[in-house]
Amino acid sequence: MTRFLDVPAMSRLVREVGVPRFLTELAQAIRDDYLRWSEFDKSARLACHSPGGVIELMPVADAQRFAFKYVNGHPSNTGRGLFTVMAFGVLAEVDTGYPLLLSELTLTTALRTAATSALVARELANPGSRRMALIGNGAQSEFQALAFHTLLGVDEIRVFDVDPAATDKLVRNLAATPGLRVIRAASTAAAVRGAQIVTTVTADKTLATILTPDMIEPGMHINAIGGDCPGKTELHAEVLRRARVIVEYEPQTRIEGDIQQLPADFPVTELWRVLSGSAAGREHTDQVTVFDSVGFALEDYSALRYVYELALARGAGDDVALVPPGANPKDLFSHLAEPADAAARAALASVLGILRSTQPA
Ligand code: NAD
Repeated sequence: MTRFLDVPAMSRLVREVGVPRFLTELAQAIRDDYLRWSEFDKSARLACHSPGGVIELMPVADAQRFAFKYVNGHPSNTGRGLFTVMAFGVLAEVDTGYPLLLSELTLTTALRTAATSALVARELANPGSRRMALIGNGAQSEFQALAFHTLLGVDEIRVFDVDPAATDKLVRNLAATPGLRVIRAASTAAAVRGAQIVTTVTADKTLATILTPDMIEPGMHINAIGGDCPGKTELHAEVLRRARVIVEYEPQTRIEGDIQQLPADFPVTELWRVLSGSAAGREHTDQVTVFDSVGFALEDYSALRYVYELALARGAGDDVALVPPGANPKDLFSHLAEPADAAARAALASVLGILRSTQPA
């Protein structure tokens, strides 16, 4: 049977574990998998674009497990009462193709994106960075704030969104977080001034320019999350040109990341190299570093395998017959029979099996 985790089940699981511990363990799982980079069969995700958004499929596999995520990005959805980003995914056994887990991944994407951002910032931000600007205060923003608070000890967050109601919501949701000061800023420039880390997590299906070169201070680490689709960027090209840029999977980020604005030979470094120590992260204190995040399938693989182990250990979710169970795998047709009939056939198949196994050879 396949374990099924819907949104209420995932929400219960995360609450049970606690958000800080969940983010910490998930970041560790993502790190462990990036360190096994060469073991994965990787590809850039498959995207289906429309005027209002994109729907994407993100597959990845190692020798044991296959994972995929379905995810969309529709920035105008919030005006229709829908989330900008919604997702679900599957973890399967490579050996048989059997689906082990079918899970919601909307909450989980926010958690895995935040865990990845904090994991990267731990490598790239100057030690002791405690002040972060958070531009874009929508669905992802609390998760980003909590990951940086938990994994880096960020204790002051300056927030700005063009929609004041989004900022109201963020301030309200973070009000009870001990040791975290959330300060409203009047503009992006005001939020960014004096910050050691800047997270941009805005949604607009255009080549937006959230950060311009005049806002950038020596030594800043920029965690650029929202530029993740062709024609959808957040950083002025000059900000990138002056920085050391880290990407998840270069072939995908060249198409989708903020670096889509730059020539194909603009130098970038893949994250796994920094984590493994085969390439430098930050090279000096005054260097500006950019994580040009688009979200890579490996992070969803890590999230799915982490969540699957948690769900089994804690009895979360339900077992569902996503693929046909049964005694005779050549008798798919029997699954169309009336339930009583199917039960009788299953009993008969089982008796015949016993008889066969007790007959002398
Ligand atoms: P959301 O629609 O809930 O929130 C986006 C917020 O950005 C909104 O509140 C909007 O008002 C604000 N915004 C738009 N333009 C702005 C501007 N110029 N200045 C300040 N704020 C502005 O979306 P979300 O779910 O929070 O996602 C945010 C972005 O992150 C999306 O672009 C999404 O595609 C991206 N994303 C990336 C990853 C990744 O792995 N890199 C993962 C998830 C989401």
